[in-house]
Amino acid sequence: MDLKIVLDFDGVLFNSAFEAYSVCNHTVEGDGDFREQVDFQEFLEFRAYVTDAWQYRRLYDKSVFNRHFDQLPQIAPDEHDWLFAKRFFEARKRMMENPDWPKVMSPYDFFFLLKPLMSQHPDRFHVLSTRDTKSISRTMSFYGAGEIPICGQEDIRREGSKIDVARAHGWLDDGKHLTVYVDDMNHHLEPFEGKVHLPLHADWGYDSNGDRSLSQHQVLAIIQSMLKLQANGSAKVQ
Ligand SMILES: [Mg+2]
Repeated sequence: MDLKIVLDFDGVLFNSAFEAYSVCNHTVEGDGDFREQVDFQEFLEFRAYVTDAWQYRRLYDKSVFNRHFDQLPQIAPDEHDWLFAKRFFEARKRMMENPDWPKVMSPYDFFFLLKPLMSQHPDRFHVLSTRDTKSISRTMSFYGAGEIPICGQEDIRREGSKIDVARAHGWLDDGKHLTVYVDDMNHHLEPFEGKVHLPLHADWGYDSNGDRSLSQHQVLAIIQSMLKLQANGSAKVQ
């Protein structure tokens, strides 16, 4: 079986909360319909429930702001949310024109520890994220991991969800792939339970932690072992 290590981006490889906060502030700048007093602490509390950029409108737009952030996952997007998402990505695009833009993305230690393994085995790794592919690829290249293939927001919109993208790539095919999937959002991880060999919850990201959450060093140790097993051929034994 072929080992595939599928990694979420935000909250696993990079702490991008400050970047998203900066983009939101640029998006709503000078528009009286939006709350101006959102500080970074409140943003981080809200961020724990965010899986797509349109949801930030629910924090900033005065007409729909709801301080019960835990209700966010139950909200279905409307046309105003999609319009906000469009403005968000336009603002990010303007900010990305600055060559220094990737500097606002902060790599976790996990990224630096994993980087030599990714360089040695680029074909074993794949990024799977709800973020737009361009900003992922720009960041990965800036930090020296530009060779890792990426499935981003465009792929997820086309296929339906993260697990649908994984299915389309054959990563769920038993007997073909031995898949490790690392995500910090429980909501994204749950559909993978029982579908991939190792769905791992990253305890260093944005979501709340449970008994099965793993630290950066624990996940790294698992990935190292799996790569070693694959190299020894043991992973082929079913
Ligand atoms: Mg994440």
